[in-house]
Amino acid sequence: MATAKASEPTPFMAQYLAIKARHPGDLLFFRMGDFYELFFEDADVAARLLDITLTKRGQHKGEPIPMAGVPYHAADSYLARLIRAGQRVAICEQVESPEEAKKRGSKAVVAREVVRLVTPGTLTEDSLLDQKRANRLAALIQSDDGLTALATADISTGYVDVLTLSDDRIGGQLSGLNVSEVVIPADGIDLRVHEELSLLGLVPTQAAGGAPKPKQADVQLKRTYELTSTDGLGLFSDPERSALGLLLSYIELTQPGLPLQLAYPKRLGENEGMVLDQTTRAALELHQTLAGTRKGSLIDCIDRTLTGPGGRKLSDQLATPLNAIEQIERRHKAIGFYLSEAAEREHLREILTRVPDLERALSRLALSRGGPRDLLKVSQALQCIQELKSLLNKTPCEDIELLKDARATLTGALANGVSGLSETLHHTLSDEPPVAISDGGTIRKGANSELDDLRTLRDQSRKIIAELEAKYRHEVGLPALKIRFNSMLGYFIEVPAKHVETFEAAEGSDRFSRRQGMANATRYLSEELSDLGQRIEEAAQKALSLETELFNHLVAQCMDHIDRLRGCADAIADLDIAAAGATWADEIAAVRPTLVDEPVLEIENGRHPVVEAALRAKGQGFVGNNLSLDGQGKASARLAVMTGPNMAGKSTYLRQNALFVILAQIGWFVPAASMRFGLVDRVFTRVGASDDLAQGKSTFMVEMLETASILNQASENALVILDEVGRGTSTYDGMAIAWACVEHLHDVIRCRGLFATHYHELTELAARLPFAGNLSLKAKEWRGDLIFLHEVQEGPADKSYGVQVARIAGLPKQVIARAQSVLRDLEASDQRNSLPDDLPLFGFQEDAVDAEQVIGPDETSPIFDALDSIDPDDLSPREALEAVYKLKSMAKDRA
Ligand code: ATP
Repeated sequence: MATAKASEPTPFMAQYLAIKARHPGDLLFFRMGDFYELFFEDADVAARLLDITLTKRGQHKGEPIPMAGVPYHAADSYLARLIRAGQRVAICEQVESPEEAKKRGSKAVVAREVVRLVTPGTLTEDSLLDQKRANRLAALIQSDDGLTALATADISTGYVDVLTLSDDRIGGQLSGLNVSEVVIPADGIDLRVHEELSLLGLVPTQAAGGAPKPKQADVQLKRTYELTSTDGLGLFSDPERSALGLLLSYIELTQPGLPLQLAYPKRLGENEGMVLDQTTRAALELHQTLAGTRKGSLIDCIDRTLTGPGGRKLSDQLATPLNAIEQIERRHKAIGFYLSEAAEREHLREILTRVPDLERALSRLALSRGGPRDLLKVSQALQCIQELKSLLNKTPCEDIELLKDARATLTGALANGVSGLSETLHHTLSDEPPVAISDGGTIRKGANSELDDLRTLRDQSRKIIAELEAKYRHEVGLPALKIRFNSMLGYFIEVPAKHVETFEAAEGSDRFSRRQGMANATRYLSEELSDLGQRIEEAAQKALSLETELFNHLVAQCMDHIDRLRGCADAIADLDIAAAGATWADEIAAVRPTLVDEPVLEIENGRHPVVEAALRAKGQGFVGNNLSLDGQGKASARLAVMTGPNMAGKSTYLRQNALFVILAQIGWFVPAASMRFGLVDRVFTRVGASDDLAQGKSTFMVEMLETASILNQASENALVILDEVGRGTSTYDGMAIAWACVEHLHDVIRCRGLFATHYHELTELAARLPFAGNLSLKAKEWRGDLIFLHEVQEGPADKSYGVQVARIAGLPKQVIARAQSVLRDLEASDQRNSLPDDLPLFGFQEDAVDAEQVIGPDETSPIFDALDSIDPDDLSPREALEAVYKLKSMAKDRA
C-alpha cells in the first residue's frame, strides 16, 4: 500500500500535471507565490536557455522532480529571452487567494488557470517590444487559384488588416509588415509558401483545426466584435473571412477569457501601393541591413519621429510605398508645409516629445494587462491632444489636407466625450500612480470621499499604532520595545532577547501573550493590538478594493472611447511623420519630388542618404550624381548599362536611384537638387550573387531564380535595378545571360532600368538597342594609385582596374605583380578563346600598369593644357616635332 501511495502525485502535482497535459508543447510558468516555477522537462529547458539554477522539489514516481523558477516581478526579461529562443510560454496564475482555497478545505490547493499564452506574435509589453516596430501576427489561407488570403493583427495596438494576394507575393508582404508569427490551418500550406516563410525565419504555428469555413469564421467574427451580424464589417471574400476567423481564434486561444477590443478589420486592396519583393527589400536595406541590424538601414537613417505610433507608421509606410499621385502628394504637401514653417514645426515637435504611446497603453488596458501607469499615459496623451488641437487651430493649413484631417479627428474626438474623459482622468488619477494597482495610491486624494475616509482611517490607525508603541514602552519602561508587522503574525510586539526577562517581569505584562521566540528577540501579541491591526487591515483592504473598482471604472470609460482614441493616435502619427519628414529634409537639404504623367526618372545631383550620412560621420563628402531615364526613350535612354572599376560607386548609384523612387512614393522628400518622375508600380533590385545553401540552392541558382522572377513579373511601369547579374557562372555563359536579360528588359518589358556589369562587351548593347545607353563611373590612376571620382558620366568605362583594387585591398605584392604580368600577357595575346572563365573581358590594352591612365578628362594635368593650346593646322613640320619633344619632356617630368 505504502508503495502505491508514494507513486501517486500529491494534490498539488496532480493539479500541475492536469494543466501541463493541456499545454504539451508550451513551457508552463506555474505561479507559486512570488515565483513562476517550471517542472520536469520545462525546468531543464528553461534552466539551459535562461542560465538559471536547476533544483529539485519532491518526488514523482519515485524520482526527484527537476524545478527551476523565475521571480514574478522580473518575468518579462526571462520571457523575452524564451520567446527569442523560439519557445511559447503558458502563464498559469493563481486565480484565488490561499484564504479562499482554505474555505474549500484545509488541504485544498489554490486554484490555477492558464491566463495567457505568450507567443512572438501576441506580445504587448513595452519591455518585450520595439517601440518603433509593429509586431504582427498573421494567418494565411490558401485557395486553389494561386491566391492567398492574409489576415494580420498587431494586438499591441489593436489593428487588424486583411488582403488577398498571389502566392509569390507572400514573402515580400510579410517581410515588410514586421510579422513575427504566422498561423496556418492544421492541413498546412503548400511548399512554396512554406519556403517563403522560412526565408524570413518564420516557422508557422499550426492551428488545431483546418481552415475555418466561412460560416465558422462568421461566428468567430461576431464573437470577437460582439456583433449580431457581420454585414457592417464590409465585404470580404470567403478565404479572407476564413483567414480572419483563423487569426481571431488563435488570438482568443492565446488570450483566454479576455475582451479583445480589436479595431474592425480593414480590407486592403490587392493593387494598393508599390510592390516590393523580399529580395528587393533586403538588397535595398530598407528596414535592416544585410547583417540584420536596424542601424545602417534606410529607416534608421530617415526616422526623425518622436512618438511610438509615428515611428511604427513610418516603418509601415516604408514597407508599402504608395502608387497613387493624390495620396503621395497629400504627404508631400504636409512635409513641404512643415519644411517652410520651421517655428510651427518646432512647436508641434515640442508637444510630440511629451505624447506617450497611446496605442500600446490602450491595448494593454483592453487586454486587462494594463496598470495605473498605462492609464496615466492615456491621461497625458489626452492633455497633449488638447494642446495639439489648439496648435492646429492656429495653423494656417486650410489647403493641407493631411493636417486638416488630423485636426478634424482630434477635434471630433474631443467634442465627442474624449474631452470629458480627459478631465475625469486628470482629476481622478494621482500624478505618480504605482506600477500595480495593488500597491495602492492610484487614485488622487480628494477624487473620491469614501476612499479618502478609508485612507484617513487607515493612516490614523497607523498613527495610533505609533502611539500604542510609545504607551507600551512607557508602561513597561522599555524603550527598546517595538511594534512591528509581518504577513504571518500581523502586528506584534518585539522585545530584544536581552530585555525579555525584564519585560516579562514588568507589571501588567500579563496582557501580552508570547507568540514566537527567536535567538535575538521574542514576539508577543496583545488583544488591543490585534483589534487595532484588524481595523487597519480592513480599512486598507477596503481602500484597495475601492481603488481597484475606481480604476476599473476609468478603464471602462477609456474603452468606451477606444475607437476615437485610436483615431487620435493615428492622427498624431500622421503629424509626427510630416514634421519628421520636414526635419530630415531640412537637415540634409532634401527636395520635394515632382510627379509627372510620363514614364521618366530624372534626378539631378542625387545623393545616397545612408552612404552620405556614413561618410559625413567620417568627415568625408558625397559626390552627387544625375540620372535621366525615359521609359519611352524620347529624352534619354530607358535602360542604362553601367560600367566602371570596382569600388567606383556603381552599387551605391544603382541603389540610390531605387531608394529615391521608394522615398518619393512614401511621400518623403529626396536628397537631390531635383527629381522628376512618373509613378513606379514595382521596384526590383538584384544585387550580386549570394549563396542560399540553407535552402539548397547554389549562388548561380539563386541569382537565376531572382532574375527569372523579375523578367516574369516586371511591367513597363517597373524600375529594375540589376547589379552584376550573371557573374556566378563562366564568363561566356554569364555574359550571354546578361546580354539576353538586357535585351528582354529593353524590347519586351520596356521598363526603366539600370544594369551594372563588369562585362565590358555589354556596353555594345547601347549601340544596338535604340533606347539603351551607357553610363560609367570615373576613376583615374595617378602614379600607380587609383583615385575614384565617384562621378557618373555618359558612355562606357574603358577598363576594370580590378588588379589595382586588389592592391588597395592588400593582396601580397608578389601576387599583384604576377597578376599584372598575366593581365598584360592575356591582353597582348588577344586570345579571347583561351581566356580562363570568370575574368572580366576588356579589349583595352594597358601599356604600363603604373602609368597615368585617365578615364574622363584629368583637369589637373598640364599636358592636357599644352595639348589644348596646339592647333595642328597652324604648325610647320619642325614646330610639330618640337611640340612632340616638349610633350615628351613634360610627361617625363611628371613621371
Ligand atoms: P564593386 O564593383 O566592387 O561592387 P562598386 O562600384 O559597386 O564596387 P560601391 O560599393 O558602390 O562600388 O562603392 C564603394 C565605396 O565608394 C562606398 O562604400 C562609398 O564609401 C564610396 N562611394 C560610392 N559612391 C560615392 C559617391 N557618390 N561619393 C562619395 N563616395 C562614394
